[in-house]
Amino acid sequence: WGDLSPLVAPGERDDETSLRPRTLDEFVGQPRVREQLQLVLQGATRRGAPPDHVLLSGPPGLGKTSLAMIIAAELGRPIRITSGPALERAGDLAAMLSNLVEGEVMFIDEIHRIARPAEEMLYLAMEDFRVDVVVGKGPGATSIPLEIAPFTLVGATTRSGSLTGPLRDRFGFTAHMEFYVPEDLELVLRRSAVILGVDLRPDGAEEIAGRSRGTPRIANRLLRRVRDYAEVRSDGAVDRATARAALEVYDVDELGLDRLDRAVLTALVRSFGGGPVGVATLAVAVGEEQTTVEEVCEPYLVRAGMLARTPRGRVATALAWSHLGLTAPTDAPG
Ligand code: ADP
Repeated sequence: WGDLSPLVAPGERDDETSLRPRTLDEFVGQPRVREQLQLVLQGATRRGAPPDHVLLSGPPGLGKTSLAMIIAAELGRPIRITSGPALERAGDLAAMLSNLVEGEVMFIDEIHRIARPAEEMLYLAMEDFRVDVVVGKGPGATSIPLEIAPFTLVGATTRSGSLTGPLRDRFGFTAHMEFYVPEDLELVLRRSAVILGVDLRPDGAEEIAGRSRGTPRIANRLLRRVRDYAEVRSDGAVDRATARAALEVYDVDELGLDRLDRAVLTALVRSFGGGPVGVATLAVAVGEEQTTVEEVCEPYLVRAGMLARTPRGRVATALAWSHLGLTAPTDAPG
């Protein structure tokens, strides 16, 4: 997702790597997920067996990849990383699975986008540590069962609802990642400021945290943009005034909504009278992929109380109207 953003400059992927928390203790926030995961990992370690497969679900940038790496690190095992869209052919998955070493962690990002044949292969691999490799075609095709080493699959998804039942059932533990509260984002920012050598003042941290859409990745990204501004236009210190001025330049408003979020709300209100309107129509109106609107914009707009998903379509709430400086019709949901 980072690649889609106009706010990321080349080379900042390295920053993202350096800012990743490496251990569960360094991982800020998500107290429930952390406690649950700790039990899963400690239980497995005591038994000396790989832990159950883990599914991490939640919007982009909340720390799913970081947690997958932490799981491997806490187990002291290597991790292999792939993604649903990369596993188009079952053969690719079979090759990866048969190369696994006992106890290894395999991370599949965007697991809801895995192709069907690969998904079916995964069922057997997750349950019985076995793959059936089909050799040949037509009536002469034979299937050769192959044992694979016991491993732990960590899957990440921005849409747990699109996972098929059989796949979901094969995960022993599902962690639902929530948007972060501002106080936790301040902790993320303070940690990042130390790593990046930014002079971040408490009021600056508070201002950036409040505009980060509940998302650590966005908090870190905004910190880098505000740092640029502070270094170029003032003495490098990031306080509230500098943060405000910088974020105005980057079109991030006081609630953290960016251009796309506001475009969605504006289209909903101005072109569709506040809705209800289908998400596909809304996506066309803002010239964006439907999945981006659904998986990136909407979760936060819903959580911020500005958009409601109803069976008949998306509806702007009274808060959305007032945020855009408009008067809501009397029937807009509160
Ligand atoms: P996802 O896989 O859910 O899209 P990532 O794990 O790639 O998210 O997280 C994006 C970035 O956000 C990480 O590189 C890290 O800098 C930061 N981050 C995410 N979660 C946390 C956290 N709990 N504590 C500190 N930093 C975090």
